[in-house]
Amino acid sequence: MSSGRFAPSPTGRLHLGNLRTALLAWLFARSTGSPLHLRFDDLDTGSVRDEHYDTQRDDLTALGLDWDGDPIRQRDRLDRYRHALDRLRALDVLYPCYCSRREIREAAQAPNRPLAGHGYPGTCRRLDATGRAARDASGRRPAWRLRTEAASYHLVDRLRGEVSVELDDFVVERNDGTPAYHLVTVVDDDALAVELVVRGDDLLDSTGRQLLVADLLGLRRAEHAHVPLVLSPDGERLAKRHGAVTLPDRMARGESPLDVLRFLAASLDLPGAAEATGPADLLPGFDPDRLPTEPLVLPVDDLT
Ligand code: GLU
Repeated sequence: MSSGRFAPSPTGRLHLGNLRTALLAWLFARSTGSPLHLRFDDLDTGSVRDEHYDTQRDDLTALGLDWDGDPIRQRDRLDRYRHALDRLRALDVLYPCYCSRREIREAAQAPNRPLAGHGYPGTCRRLDATGRAARDASGRRPAWRLRTEAASYHLVDRLRGEVSVELDDFVVERNDGTPAYHLVTVVDDDALAVELVVRGDDLLDSTGRQLLVADLLGLRRAEHAHVPLVLSPDGERLAKRHGAVTLPDRMARGESPLDVLRFLAASLDLPGAAEATGPADLLPGFDPDRLPTEPLVLPVDDLT
């Protein structure tokens, strides 16, 4: 049976945008009778904070959102990702990349960059064995990039329709040995039989990379519904400094979790938002074709 998933990174408290995406992931799954998984994208050890597995789970529960089975932690699944990396290596589509972020930034700005249009300028793609050996000898540990042949990928998004997204040579294993997001998300979505990936539309651009990984590994190609973000009054992604952006912040202003649920539902124009007593009350009126595709920009008053 196909399923859905909500995949937060436990790096902080969930904000209104995350909660709204979670509500939508829940509605998409439950309106089709599909199981929903909660998956913690927690491989970025530098930014994960242990307490946020609990705070994120608790905030979802407070809104009445539930999921099936135990939450999944990517840290527990490293073997699967390593196996997938081995398969990509065996296909000979990876190459080591020794570039630092700064070098990539600078090379990307060079006027005569050879792979115009690609995010990664291809510096290490052109290294020969001697060049690689010299860099290995310098002690720099490489990341591994996937060599892409096309500059773009065409796909159909459930909310955004037909889109063409850019492709570049992207990292599948970071230089600390951690399997990278574009790889692990595909491996997990396949293992969990995810048919529809519901997530923030800041990730739309990464979808081509992920479909490419799925194609190469012979995994299922999930469909995608990229949902609009919630932005601060100045059009930025929500952050703590913008004010009352989390559930506890809203509760400190005297709102209940139900008020927050109704607010999120109203922001999506969901019928019955004002009277809902829980997310299930939103199911009868849920129609993906009527969801907004523009971001919600919160007014200053809403955040103070
Ligand atoms: N962990 C990502 C985030 O919190 C979402 C990844 C995904 O849904 O594919 O933005």
